[in-house]
Amino acid sequence: MNGRTYTADAEPGDTVTIAGWLHETRDLGGIAFLILRDTSGKIQVKLEKDEMDDALVETGLDASRESVLKVEGDVKEEPRAPTGVEVVPTSIEVIAEAETQLPLDPSGKVDAELPTRLNNRTLDLRREEAKAVFEIRAEVLRAVREAFRSFAATEINTPKIVATGTEGGTELFPISYFGEEAFMNQSPQLFKQLMVGSGLERVFEIGPIFRAEEHNTPRHLNEATSIDFESAFFDHTEAMDVCEAVVKAAYEAVAENCERELEALGLDEEFAVPDGEFPRLTYEEAIQRINATGALDEQLVWGDDLPTEGEHALGQDVGEHYFITDWPSEIKPFYIKDHDDDETLSTGFDMMHPRMELVSGGQREHRYEELIAGFEQQGLDPEAFDYYTKMFKYGMPPHAGWGLGAERLIMTMLDLDNIREAVLFPRDRQRLSP
Ligand code: ATP
Ligand code: MG
Repeated sequence: MNGRTYTADAEPGDTVTIAGWLHETRDLGGIAFLILRDTSGKIQVKLEKDEMDDALVETGLDASRESVLKVEGDVKEEPRAPTGVEVVPTSIEVIAEAETQLPLDPSGKVDAELPTRLNNRTLDLRREEAKAVFEIRAEVLRAVREAFRSFAATEINTPKIVATGTEGGTELFPISYFGEEAFMNQSPQLFKQLMVGSGLERVFEIGPIFRAEEHNTPRHLNEATSIDFESAFFDHTEAMDVCEAVVKAAYEAVAENCERELEALGLDEEFAVPDGEFPRLTYEEAIQRINATGALDEQLVWGDDLPTEGEHALGQDVGEHYFITDWPSEIKPFYIKDHDDDETLSTGFDMMHPRMELVSGGQREHRYEELIAGFEQQGLDPEAFDYYTKMFKYGMPPHAGWGLGAERLIMTMLDLDNIREAVLFPRDRQRLSP
């Protein structure tokens, strides 16, 4: 809209055109106030019934809540107004009317359940709190990109329609591709690895991953956003260094640039950028510490996956972000390299928030023969992955990398109860639209 001023930019003495949603009408008799809201904030519009044009006053007072209005007028200082200024209108126009029955209350006075919010995301995101999550999400992704660029990584985009899966068959979504079976990609794993052998060497991708997980949990989505990194000539410890730096960069950017959003979420006092190095525990130490908490009925033994309650107990015990390293080879995927001096130990690592896993990574198997053997051990047919394995015959450098769930990063950063709050339109067992 030509010449439109954001409400937050309206200064006393200005003549402005503002546009936004009618947040509230306060009719005090001789005088009435319209509170107009746009993406930048809210502003008071004053209606003086005896002094102003009747038609103008009537248009303002008749407008239903959440209708879109365009208001022209003069900005005056008014210490009693919520923002210290108000607009004295010379014209009010209803651009788009809202029905009086709304499926949820954007003023936030009436709480709505998450399914109602997700079914009416447009209205939900008129609430400052919900909107703040996505402003912060955008800032996190911006900061992460910048951090990767500072490490000289190149942003890539790999296919999401693929012929084979990487993380086992059960979590794949099959689709029909011109009569042939294809799948939605679970992870850019194999593609990003192929790039470390290309002239690019160090790459990152921020893109969707699709997992046909059957279970509905507060931390799983069927379509998630993965922040992936992979670098040639890196071992797992160097990959962990970058992982830690990227996560800290995200927190720092939010602390620095999202003051208003943190305030809207009630986090401005408690938001803390992780400081110091993330502790690096071996898997062995992790299971000992979990066992020592007494949180589990049965003691964990070497080779066990960490159950969710175990992760929680350990997270509480550690109390900050941490890595778990040196996993048993048998519980990490085939493409992860084992330690050279002990093949029962994997270079795979997880990076954890006290509440849950955020990252999995490791050094990769770059030696052709060992890679093929790994496929066979995992019960996968190496022939089906020929497009991938054959590149390991033409000079594939040692490399390492990781994948970080963007929604889990945001969920833990903002202490959200449910991962769905960090996605505009989540996909889960029950939800395919909107
Ligand atoms: P989990 O054991 O918690 O289900 P995972 O080990 O299966 O996760 P990975 O394959 O290691 O997941 O994926 C790397 C990262 O991607 C995870 O640490 C997580 O942050 C994110 N991620 C994976 N699957 C999902 C999902 N279904 N929903 C949201 N994020 C996910
Ligand atoms: Mg994992």
